[in-house]
Amino acid sequence: NDKIILASRPEGVPSRENFEFVSEPLPQPQAGQALVRTLYLSVDPYMRGRMSDAKSYAPPYAVGDVIRGGAVGQVMESSDPRFAPGDIVSGTWGWQRYAAAETAHLMKVDPADGPISTSLHVVGMTGLTAYFGLLRIGDPQPGETVVVSGAAGAVGMIVGQIAKIKGARVVGIAGTERKVRYLKEELGFDEVIDYKAADNIQAALEQACPNGVDVYFDNVGGEISDAVLHLINRHARIPVCGQISLYNLQDQDVGPRIQPLLLKNTALMKGFLVGDYAAEAEEGRKELAGWVKKGLIQYEENIIEGFENTPDAFIGLFSGDNLGKQLVKVGEI
Ligand code: NDP
Repeated sequence: NDKIILASRPEGVPSRENFEFVSEPLPQPQAGQALVRTLYLSVDPYMRGRMSDAKSYAPPYAVGDVIRGGAVGQVMESSDPRFAPGDIVSGTWGWQRYAAAETAHLMKVDPADGPISTSLHVVGMTGLTAYFGLLRIGDPQPGETVVVSGAAGAVGMIVGQIAKIKGARVVGIAGTERKVRYLKEELGFDEVIDYKAADNIQAALEQACPNGVDVYFDNVGGEISDAVLHLINRHARIPVCGQISLYNLQDQDVGPRIQPLLLKNTALMKGFLVGDYAAEAEEGRKELAGWVKKGLIQYEENIIEGFENTPDAFIGLFSGDNLGKQLVKVGEI
């Protein structure tokens, strides 16, 4: 069996040297575990936080330990009667070709419901993040302006489409011309700003949001968010989902003080984790699946083939290589 361990903690942007491939005997599942063969691995920006030893909401990976994250696989062996050999499951396990996964946290995936990989994004973790963050905190109303950063990513593209379903005007911010085109032409975003090409992001936003900003779904933080926050309307809502522009910074980021903007506009800014809504996840998943079925929500996957390319797939998140959900395909059913 092969696995990928954290060889060293990244300083700044992660690089290949931070990861090491190790061969090991096939894991022996213990009671409460199943042996699974990995089909897809999910690489996600939050994993960068776990590679540091700073205190956060998820405990750090230990140096020398296998990197763990979302995955889909096929059960090979199981002592838990709920899972039989051949079943497709999603859950959390290591960057390994074969893993002994805790069955308590596995979910069965029915290939008849759609591509099994979608359990890692649109009807899984990133879809639910978009759903709960936008609907429970952002609460977009018809005709309001919703701005979403990281708009062409796994979370962002679902946020924009749910906001459209709710009748809002949607403005996205993304990092390449291809992403801009996709969001406007395929997903019907009203305006999209290429923040890398814009001379002045503030001016571009002002032009794209003539009526100000009612909801800002923040995936990236930093200067992009500073610019959006200058345009918020009275009673604006700001779900703080992620801050990817800061994850690789080694010095503390110091931005403008935004409290006066929040106060003056009696705005709500709230951080959240998708896990906060675990009790309602099933309900969210059903509604997302329904929207996908009706064609109201589309998605993209950026699939890299081959277990050996997992570190590169992860590192690529920080240079915007992915349009849609970044996945690694490790095996076939
Ligand atoms: P994405 O699919 O959006 O991939 C990351 C994208 O971020 C890249 O494609 C890139 O697109 C953009 N990006 C990278 N670096 C920067 C930068 N310095 N400035 C601006 N944009 C950058 O990832 P996800 O959809 O999975 O996650 C999006 C955000 O949501 C992340 O911040 C993540 O941590 C957070 N998250 C939070 C959860 C929660 O429970 N609160 C759960 C899941 C995710 P581009 O080309 O546009 O730059």
